[in-house]
Amino acid sequence: MKPAFPKWATPERRRYLVELFERSGGFCVRGERPCTSPLEHHYSWYIEPLIADWKASDSEDQRWAWLLEQRAMHRIPEKLRRGRFDSVAQDAFGARQPSYYTEGFTVNAFTFTRMAKVRIPSTHMRLFVDVPKLSKNKRRKLKRYQGIDLHAQLQAAVQDFWTG
Ligand SMILES: [Zn+2]
Repeated sequence: MKPAFPKWATPERRRYLVELFERSGGFCVRGERPCTSPLEHHYSWYIEPLIADWKASDSEDQRWAWLLEQRAMHRIPEKLRRGRFDSVAQDAFGARQPSYYTEGFTVNAFTFTRMAKVRIPSTHMRLFVDVPKLSKNKRRKLKRYQGIDLHAQLQAAVQDFWTG
């Protein structure tokens, strides 16, 4: 029988935590000897907010996916929603597909910054885009805008992919 993991504990994240533990030996995750800030860097202290952040990212991500879906739905003309696809309408549908799909968030193992994993439509390409982690306070203030902010960042990265 497979052990049941909480929802945030994806295989990648579990692997990351194991690696982090092995690398740090349970001590400073940044490899400082001596550590300048044990309460922030020592493994058991470090992973607590990290996991909290993963959980927050997951719900943020879900909310964002839902918003995108809603917005896409509103942009599709009525007759398409009813299922009459002619070739012109299908082109229009293609033009309306989002420029990327957010698949989730992860932590950059080298810089410890948050990264978004995005899929480019019509390709098998995935991009990892560094997205700065907002402080709790800033996050609260930006609650209504952070989706737009993040969207602009991801969109720019996807644009770079196509043009660069
Ligand atoms: Zn340290």
